[in-house]
Amino acid sequence: MTSAPGQGAGSDTPAVPPGSRPAGAISAALAVGWMHTARFLTTAPKLEFLPALAVPEIAFVGRSNAGKSTCINTLTQQKRLAFASKTPGRTQSINLFALGRQGSTDAVLADLPGYGYAAVPKQDKLRWQQVMANYLVTRENLRAVVLMVDPRLGLTELDDILLEVIRPRVEQGLKFLLLLTKADKLNRGEQAKALSIARLQAGGGEVKLFSALKKQGVEETSLLLWHWAHPEAR
Ligand code: GDP
Repeated sequence: MTSAPGQGAGSDTPAVPPGSRPAGAISAALAVGWMHTARFLTTAPKLEFLPALAVPEIAFVGRSNAGKSTCINTLTQQKRLAFASKTPGRTQSINLFALGRQGSTDAVLADLPGYGYAAVPKQDKLRWQQVMANYLVTRENLRAVVLMVDPRLGLTELDDILLEVIRPRVEQGLKFLLLLTKADKLNRGEQAKALSIARLQAGGGEVKLFSALKKQGVEETSLLLWHWAHPEAR
């Protein structure tokens, strides 16, 4: 599965000349370039402080240490666009990054705080689970959710809760990608096994392997997100 349009176009593959692909479709190189346009838009400690936006929003979620910041920084090719606060108790926020040419933002990435960090006080954990759940249920322009999971650990209880929270919206068309991070730490056999387990858990959503270290999955993921943000281009 996971046959994103244009998948397989490696980094050596020359860009497809204009006119030789279906109207609206783009090459992997263009999708990767689109991700590189990411720039900081705003940060909000609470849902009600997030600006209402008309453009599609793609949320990145995952347990603390899953590799979310590294993944966002790799996809956007910006060193410190997303930097997780590893300090327990420090205020965490929802960070928004704009995508598209300056002056014509066509999508937004939302970096949600990592959950499950053991040292965070229980009250803070509960508060953040509530903020996250509210966001995932009510954010009107939310188009897609990317859940990052370290395949060596698999889905944790909090990941399962998150899947339950978004399930009704996925059934109504919200796009979902389960991204298996740190794939370089698995051999080929382990990667195949992790993929087949994750496909069973993803409830019909997409599943991909990702390695920031090896730049694995960067093109495929960028293309998938571009298409999700531009459904009219299909
Ligand atoms: P976050 O808490 O989800 O934002 O996780 P980070 O992005 O901070 O990553 C957690 C740890 O995993 C860090 O030590 C990263 O260097 C490491 N890591 C992240 N992505 C990869 C990857 O693709 N390969 C390897 N080998 N390590 C990674």
